[in-house]
Amino acid sequence: MTHASILITGAGIAGPALAYWLNRYGMKTTLVERAEELRTGGQNVDLRGGGREVARLMGLEDEVRARNTTEEGIHFVDEAGRTRASLPATAFGGEGLVAELEILRGELAKLLYERTRDDTEYLFGDRVAGLVERGDKVHVQFLKGPERAFDLVIAADGIRSKTRELVFADEAEIKSFGAYVAYFTIPRLGSDGTWSRMLNAPGSRSVILRPDNQGTTRAFLGFFSRERGLDRLEPAEQKARLRRVFADVGWEAPRVLSEMETAPDFYFDTVAQVKMPRWSRGRVALVGDAGYCPSGFTGMGTSLAMVGAYVLAGELARHADHRAAFESYEALLRPYVTRAQSLPPGLPRLANPKTRAGIAIEHALLRVATRPVISRLLGHLLSTSDKSITLPDYSHVGHATSA
Ligand SMILES: Cc1cc2nc3c(=O)[nH]c(=O)nc-3n(C[C@H](O)[C@H](O)[C@H](O)COP(=O)(O)OP(=O)(O)OC[C@H]3O[C@@H](n4cnc5c(N)ncnc54)[C@H](O)[C@@H]3O)c2cc1C
Repeated sequence: MTHASILITGAGIAGPALAYWLNRYGMKTTLVERAEELRTGGQNVDLRGGGREVARLMGLEDEVRARNTTEEGIHFVDEAGRTRASLPATAFGGEGLVAELEILRGELAKLLYERTRDDTEYLFGDRVAGLVERGDKVHVQFLKGPERAFDLVIAADGIRSKTRELVFADEAEIKSFGAYVAYFTIPRLGSDGTWSRMLNAPGSRSVILRPDNQGTTRAFLGFFSRERGLDRLEPAEQKARLRRVFADVGWEAPRVLSEMETAPDFYFDTVAQVKMPRWSRGRVALVGDAGYCPSGFTGMGTSLAMVGAYVLAGELARHADHRAAFESYEALLRPYVTRAQSLPPGLPRLANPKTRAGIAIEHALLRVATRPVISRLLGHLLSTSDKSITLPDYSHVGHATSA
């Protein structure tokens, strides 16, 4: 086996998915995760198009389906809680705002971890502090563990990848949309039901309540701001900011703000895309958000991570030369990533209207959204270009073993 030992950084979605495929092709994988244990936080993530197909090839589709978030669709409500428009999960062929195949991010992370932990060496609570390529090895210094050498290093450590910074310096363009999101889990009330409910409030602010399959409710707060760097504030300051931004919003906003104070999993981030001129340098390559985060606005992050892992592993199994493998990986995947990252013009703002009139127009459009002609038009828009990719067939390469 040419690529005998591969270090992967980051045990999110892309990292363990990559380890799964590399293990199947007989390669030896080590996965270093900064957190002390698997991070199972996060809310609903969608598996669409190619992502769904990779889950099927991994034999995971039924398990994902069994862990479906049970969300039946989304009601768009006004500040009095009245439903103004509704979209069932089956609208747009199950690939619309609510995807038919949705799972809590933490549940998917656990499934992938369980599928790899016997064959992959997991190093929790550590990270790469430095790396240098010498001859046909990458010599890696860890923050805590001893220095080791690997044939290849793959960075799967997310949107703010430190491994990417170490290797590609400032080559990454982080395109911010000027929007911030907060996610957290709150106690379920009987009135929360089985549909998501979303309020658009003037000033491009949104509140979403989503049912999950754990007996709790997932809360979301989103807003736009000219201020940069709110994601780097301490959680207490971020919460104070959210209390101010949503102070005059009605419906369930007061309940959400109050529950936010004691939520066990408060998560706050900026909405951004990662654009890299290249995805590999020497013996190091990028996969998932680290290389091409499409942002939460696209609903494509998890699918890109799954497909990216599948193609990168397949190309490494197909080519003895890592340069040829990385080149082919990029050639096959870049058009798909470019489509996934290209949002219809003005979409983040259009989906988050500033004024009451804009919100009324949005609701009127959504009310007719499932009518055939409009559905085709909206389906095309919401599909954020094309979510599909013809996956290469790697069933006969490497040392593939059955799942
Ligand atoms: C805790 C959490 C919650 C999330 N919640 C949502 C959500 O609700 N909705 C949504 O759409 N997306 C969410 N995401 C992002 C989503 O998982 C990704 O956009 C997508 O699935 C692609 O996955 P990824 O593996 O590339 O990145 P991620 O899932 O972000 O995984 C990256 C992993 O790398 C680890 N890491 C970071 N730095 C280092 C380092 N220097 N060394 C080693 N490991 C490192 C992180 O701890 C993490 O486990 C969340 C991510 C995380 C980490």
